[in-house]
Amino acid sequence: MKITIGHLYPDLLNLYGDRGNIQCMMKRCLWRGIDAETIEFRLGDSIDFSDLDIVLLGGGSDREQMLVCSELKKIQESFHSYVEDGGSVLAVCGGYQLLGHYYKTEEGTIEGLSLVDLYTEQGSPRLIDNIVLENPQFSLPIVGFENHGGRTYIGSNRPFGKVLYGKGNNGEDGTEGVLYKNVVGTYLHGPLLPKNPHICDYLLSNALGRKYGTSDLSPLDDTQEKEANQYIFHRFVKQQP
Ligand code: GLN
Repeated sequence: MKITIGHLYPDLLNLYGDRGNIQCMMKRCLWRGIDAETIEFRLGDSIDFSDLDIVLLGGGSDREQMLVCSELKKIQESFHSYVEDGGSVLAVCGGYQLLGHYYKTEEGTIEGLSLVDLYTEQGSPRLIDNIVLENPQFSLPIVGFENHGGRTYIGSNRPFGKVLYGKGNNGEDGTEGVLYKNVVGTYLHGPLLPKNPHICDYLLSNALGRKYGTSDLSPLDDTQEKEANQYIFHRFVKQQP
């Protein structure tokens, strides 16, 4: 079995080392004897989505998002078919905003891919903090860090999680991120998957299920990851007695 990960525009969308999430996916595959490969795509490269099992769109500054915006129009149709066909996507922060219809800033409106029915508007102040989510679909809380000016509104879509601590999509409605088909959109930056191995395995098992019809992943020893996850949960949500 083999998983191929497409990393879109790593030179522009890689704020706070979002690419570390790819290393996490690759490692958790290799530890299980599943081959894993990453292909990087830069502006101007053509992308054949039929080669890909997971796509990563990382975070970027408003300026960098503006730069990739026109490139996205060229791949919109094939990216859309990939998503509708159950292709897995992890889109973080600036990449998450680009999944939607638009991101409206003071400098202008950045057009998105319209892959998911959501939109984003710049607000003030920036929302910067640790963040903890819960989603009964997952066995552990989701922990991370957020840093964004945009406020995202997901309408009737399913959120990635309910905010237990932090601000989330817009600081108002208690939601964070979005789940649509096999797409995960989230504001959680940096080491999202190392901190949340259950989310990494969710992406991997969806990708394997689509490709091979089997999504069973052999268990790994996540004792340390789970302890770290619980530590953050208790620090910000449930104070230790
Ligand atoms: N530029 C976007 C914002 O500030 C996304 C930033 C990011 O990816 N951290 O909302």
